[in-house]
Amino acid sequence: MGTLFIVPTPIGNLEDITLRALRVLREAALIAAEDTRTSRVLTRHFDINTPMTSYHEHNKLSKLDEIFAALETADVALISDAGTPGISDPGYELIAAALARGYEVVPLPGACAITTALVGSGLAADSFRYVGFLPRKTAALRARLKDLRAGRETIVAYESPYRLADSLALIAEVMGGERRVCVARELSKKFEQFYRGSARELRDLFAADSPRGEVTLVIAGADPGETRWSEEQVRSALRRRLAAGEAH
Ligand code: SAM
Repeated sequence: MGTLFIVPTPIGNLEDITLRALRVLREAALIAAEDTRTSRVLTRHFDINTPMTSYHEHNKLSKLDEIFAALETADVALISDAGTPGISDPGYELIAAALARGYEVVPLPGACAITTALVGSGLAADSFRYVGFLPRKTAALRARLKDLRAGRETIVAYESPYRLADSLALIAEVMGGERRVCVARELSKKFEQFYRGSARELRDLFAADSPRGEVTLVIAGADPGETRWSEEQVRSALRRRLAAGEAH
């Protein structure tokens, strides 16, 4: 019986592949890749000739049989387009199904935008909450931010550069303009940049100009001494109390 290896790949800079990842990719009988065209650039660069099959969001269930057939006799390596498979990338179902069938699953440590952005943000990294991609629709995003507002942990989210300005405006509105935020852009790439400031400052900075490339957003947790309510908090508390007939 083979082993399923979960292999992180670089999120930009090809030097971030590990020696172990290269060995595992060379020694596996099959690489299951989110996008074989993207991953062939990587394998060609490192002179890896292992056969590859696609395993992506839209075929992941139909691919299980093929991957388990390979695992019966040899090792399989799972990779995504960039970073760690299973982190807002296909992988979870395969990993869960492999474990349920009794296969050994071995995850390799490696590149991931979450931890890279978090430690570079300068915000507290002792306790944090990863929330995946922020909701696209304004109402859903507002509700999500309200849910997150009182948490003390630092928040890490993936975000599209096109929605960044609107999201920062809502963060300032819901969590308060003084909340510390960091936009980590193009991590490990040539134009890597960290924008650190208050939600209000970054909202104003990006209002006129969306950034290019990939973006991870880091938001400070609620300050334990934070007693001031945002305007939105005051309004919604008032609305609730008026609706309950508590005030006139
Ligand atoms: N599995 C990946 C990981 O481990 O980081 C994440 C995959 S998710 C589909 C892609 C999102 O991750 C992007 O939209 C962006 O928010 C973030 N991301 C990936 N690479 C990045 C980079 N080089 N710089 C900043 N954010 C990045």
